[in-house]
Amino acid sequence: MKTANYLLAPDGTAPDCAPAIQHSHGVHARAHTLARIEAALARMDAGRYGMCVACEQRIDLQRLEADPAEAVCSDCCETAEG
Ligand SMILES: [Zn+2]
Repeated sequence: MKTANYLLAPDGTAPDCAPAIQHSHGVHARAHTLARIEAALARMDAGRYGMCVACEQRIDLQRLEADPAEAVCSDCCETAEG
């Protein structure tokens, strides 16, 4: 009767044939980025792009260049992220 040795790695242990599914933070980060971009596009439609959603002051151009989906000015960002 044939043994099931083909199920085992050469050292006799079960092969690691089914790596654990990893919950990647990257997926969530991309989804988050997409949501931010969609929000930025919605602000463009509303004619409010580049305005802080918190205090309605203009967001610094440097901030928008660094992150075009930026939703808050530097003051509010500091307040929010503390
Ligand atoms: Zn602000």
